[in-house]
Amino acid sequence: HRISTADEERAMSEWETVVGLEVHVELATETKLFSHAPNRFGDAPNTNITPVCLGLPGSLPVLNRRAVELAMTIGLALGCEIRPSVFHRKNYFYPDLPKGYQISQHDVPVARGGFVDVTLPLGGGGRRFALERMHIEEDTGKLTHEGADALKGSDASLGDYNRAGTPLLEIVTEPCMRSGQEASEYAQELQRIVRFTEVGDGNLSEGSMRCDVNVSVRAVGDERLGTKVEVKNLNSFSAMQRAVDFEFERQTGLLEAGRGGDIVQETRLWDENKRETA
Ligand code: ADP
Ligand code: MG
Repeated sequence: HRISTADEERAMSEWETVVGLEVHVELATETKLFSHAPNRFGDAPNTNITPVCLGLPGSLPVLNRRAVELAMTIGLALGCEIRPSVFHRKNYFYPDLPKGYQISQHDVPVARGGFVDVTLPLGGGGRRFALERMHIEEDTGKLTHEGADALKGSDASLGDYNRAGTPLLEIVTEPCMRSGQEASEYAQELQRIVRFTEVGDGNLSEGSMRCDVNVSVRAVGDERLGTKVEVKNLNSFSAMQRAVDFEFERQTGLLEAGRGGDIVQETRLWDENKRETA
C-alpha cells in the first residue's frame, strides 16, 4: 500500500475540475497603444502621459502599428487564425481609467483559435490546450492606496497614469484544463513563447504578464459546465496551481454537502499568506 498523491486522489474522485485561463501580456512596444508616450515601467509617476492617454477633448488616438504586428506574431506562433479586427470603446468609470473608457478589440478580436502544446512533468504526458481568442486592449493606470484598511477604507489614493494606454494582449483559452498543474504548465509555456517571440518580457512580478484562472467543478461524465469562479491576484505559477486546487476542494465540498447553489459566479482574490481564495 502506498500513499496516493493529490493528483491520484483527484483522478479517483467523482468530481472533475474545469479550468480556463485569461492571460494579459504587456506588448513590448516603444510607445503606447494610441499615443507617442513612452511605454516604460519604473519611471517617476505621471511622466509618461500625453493628452491622448488622458482622453482630453480634441485629442486623437492613432493606432500603434507595432502593437498589432506583435499580436499577429504570437498569434501565428500559436497557430491562430489572424483576422481583420475592430476597436470599440468600453465605457466604465473607475479612477484608474482617466479617459472613462477603454479601447478594446473585445468584440472582434485579431486572432481566433490556435493552441499551446505542453509536456507535463514526471511523465505526465502531453497536452494540447485550445485557445479561444486573442485581442488587443489598453491597460489602466495604477492606484496606490495609502493607509489602506479593510474596514475603514484608505486615507488617500494616488493615481499613476504612466501605465494608462499601454498595449495589452489578452489570450483566452477554452475551458480545456483539468487541474492546477495543467493551468500552471500552460502559463509557463505561454511565458516561454512570449519571451522567445520577443512579444513581451512576460514578467509576472512586474505585472507584464497577469494570469486569471476560471474554475468550475462538475460530476465526471457530465457534459455541461458548472458555475465558474474567477480568481485574480496570482503572482506566481505555484500560486496559480494552489488556487485551482483550493477552488476544486472548496467547490467539491459545497457540492458534496448539497450546497451547490452556494457556488456563485464571482471574482475571488488569492491570498498567498493564508493560501486560500476569498
Ligand atoms: P467572461 O465573459 O465572464 O469573461 P468567458 O466566456 O469569456 O467569460 O470565459 C472566460 C474564461 O473562462 C475562458 O478562459 C473560458 O474558457 C473560461 N470558462 C468559461 N466558462 C467556464 C466554466 N464553466 N468553467 C471553467 N472555465 C470557464
Ligand atoms: Mg471574457
